[in-house]
Amino acid sequence: MLIINSKKELIDILRRDRECNHKITLIPTMGNLHEGHLSLISKSEDYLSKKIVSIFVNPLQFNDSSDYTSYPKTLEQDLEALEKRKIDYVFVPTKEEMMRNIIHTDELPWGFTNLLCGAYRGRHFDGVQKIIREFFEIIKPDFAIFGEKDFQQYLLIKYIAERYFRETNIKIILSPTIRMDNGLAFSSRNTLLSDEQINKASLAFQSIKSTVVDYFHKTGLLNFNNLIPQSANLTYQYVKIYDEKYLYDKHGLGANSNSDQKIFRLFIALIIDNVRLIDNYPVERYDIS
Ligand code: AMP
Repeated sequence: MLIINSKKELIDILRRDRECNHKITLIPTMGNLHEGHLSLISKSEDYLSKKIVSIFVNPLQFNDSSDYTSYPKTLEQDLEALEKRKIDYVFVPTKEEMMRNIIHTDELPWGFTNLLCGAYRGRHFDGVQKIIREFFEIIKPDFAIFGEKDFQQYLLIKYIAERYFRETNIKIILSPTIRMDNGLAFSSRNTLLSDEQINKASLAFQSIKSTVVDYFHKTGLLNFNNLIPQSANLTYQYVKIYDEKYLYDKHGLGANSNSDQKIFRLFIALIIDNVRLIDNYPVERYDIS
């Protein structure tokens, strides 16, 4: 496993790999690796290719600077975990290296600034866009793997691939959300919580999920923001169900499916003692009578 810090070195190495007809898989992360990240690496084994994991905490995607500084950084442990897996390269650029020549990006489609995290996190998706486009530009991967946990981010990545990298033909792969035994999705932010807070968060997700899915089945209601109890230490930022087709459309992604069948997904963002957690779940279709 080779650790690479410079874009130029990475570009040179990948050029040689391509000359030997190797395909390339990219797995972008912000480090502090957990079971969720490691599942993306396992998924990459389905694709015969050189594997690159990037570790870069993207300052442009944080709308709050204290959130950026408190973001857990555990490079040594991450490298140890990667050493045990079939990874060819770990790309760990410095902030200066990554920010050099960052492109000026275009406005994103409406959904990225008005729906779900887009509505609450300011320039978040624009910050993600800038860095992912730079990764795609220098790496030109054949495959790029992203977690279902960040579903709106997955829509952004698909949009970037379709809008700016059509000729590169990057296959964007969605990998399922990995959860702890108590149902809480693995997240680097979980390390900012005590065991008690983890239990509280897991219960909060589970109870809201079962309540609103039941409500949805009975009434067809999609927006639950006004029905959710809020408290000082636990606030729900959004609790909403969307038809996936609507989401694809509002995020600039035309035809995601030929089927007329509606596929629904429940999205939840909650803040527990200042730590913001998100999750989403597919919700079974049913005919509202
Ligand atoms: P992050 O380091 O949080 O930027 O995440 C890097 C990648 O890991 C993204 O594609 C995430 O969607 C994915 N990821 C994060 N948590 C999970 C999880 N619990 N299950 C599956 N994928 C995840």
